[in-house]
Amino acid sequence: NVKIIIHIDSLALGNAIGGTRMLPYDSVESAIQDVKKLSSAMSLKAAIHGLNQGGGKCVIFNPEKLHFNEIAPLYTSALNQLAGSFIAANDMGISIKMINDIRHLSPFLISSNQLIDDPSYFTALGVFHCIQYITKNHLDTTIPNIKIQGLGRSGAPLCKMLLDSGFKVSAYDIKVSHVEQFKKHPNFSALDETNWFSLPCDIFAPCASGNVITNSNVHLINSKFVCGTANNPCENMAVINTLHSHHIQFIPDFVSNGGGLIYAAGTYHQLSRKEIIDKIKNIPKLISKLSCSSSNMYVNALSIANEKISSFVNES
Ligand code: NAD
Repeated sequence: NVKIIIHIDSLALGNAIGGTRMLPYDSVESAIQDVKKLSSAMSLKAAIHGLNQGGGKCVIFNPEKLHFNEIAPLYTSALNQLAGSFIAANDMGISIKMINDIRHLSPFLISSNQLIDDPSYFTALGVFHCIQYITKNHLDTTIPNIKIQGLGRSGAPLCKMLLDSGFKVSAYDIKVSHVEQFKKHPNFSALDETNWFSLPCDIFAPCASGNVITNSNVHLINSKFVCGTANNPCENMAVINTLHSHHIQFIPDFVSNGGGLIYAAGTYHQLSRKEIIDKIKNIPKLISKLSCSSSNMYVNALSIANEKISSFVNES
């Protein structure tokens, strides 16, 4: 019953680079919905960050909870059939080590043989630069309070970068052990499951799964900005519009969390580490560009990214 679902949203700008995710989906339909949404976000992400890559993503529907090594032959045969249109990295539920262990089965896997570091660190780095930019340019405090949901592969390095730079951080994670590592830090506070969502902060950084801000809880958001690593943190466009009308600035996820893709694509194209980090440091310039008009930043970002994709399609 295992299904390898690869969705390629666009190849207009180049071959697609995207993660492979293995989560406990309720049904094949929900896995398909997830992969489509993620894959189109990858196209937007590549376009807005000026990368010559398409958008694609893979999810593995694994109801029997088979070990990844058992699924690997099916997974890599799917990648090999696509012959490089889709280059796969790791994502939620799959570690770099798991990908690295099966690397001999496909040349279309990006693993730590090429990626010296986990791309998640670079995703966190991009969000960190965005938060620094927002603090400097849009907040009236020099030590803002950042609230993080999810201290996993991207949330934990973000939390560390923020604490190391003197920010106050509060965080909630369903896994207590992920919170434990930060508890001794004087600027860190652990949040409770019951009320973490509505507690006020300057910047809310969703770094867990998607769809965390919904039609039914958006009115509880008590922050000036939303800027995190999570893909699709808002359930739908209505939620994004509500945030905008409440004067809560939502930094589009495909803008703030592009650091991992910039790193993966940069490594694939053999850029130096410095060139990659310089590109990531430039992410906040996009925020400044997107906030030039009074309209919704997400809508502005969508139109810039879609314009890039369609102008390329028209040229070629
Ligand atoms: P991860 O699985 O390593 O971490 C997720 C963390 O969130 C875990 O610690 C988990 O316990 C916690 N969590 C899960 N559900 C939660 C809930 N309901 N409330 C609180 N905590 C919860 O994942 P990650 O790689 O850090 O990715 C996080 C998000 O960022 C995902 O949406 C992913 O698609 C997105 N993203 C990640 C990267 C990357 O490079 N890792 C790049 C782009 C986007």
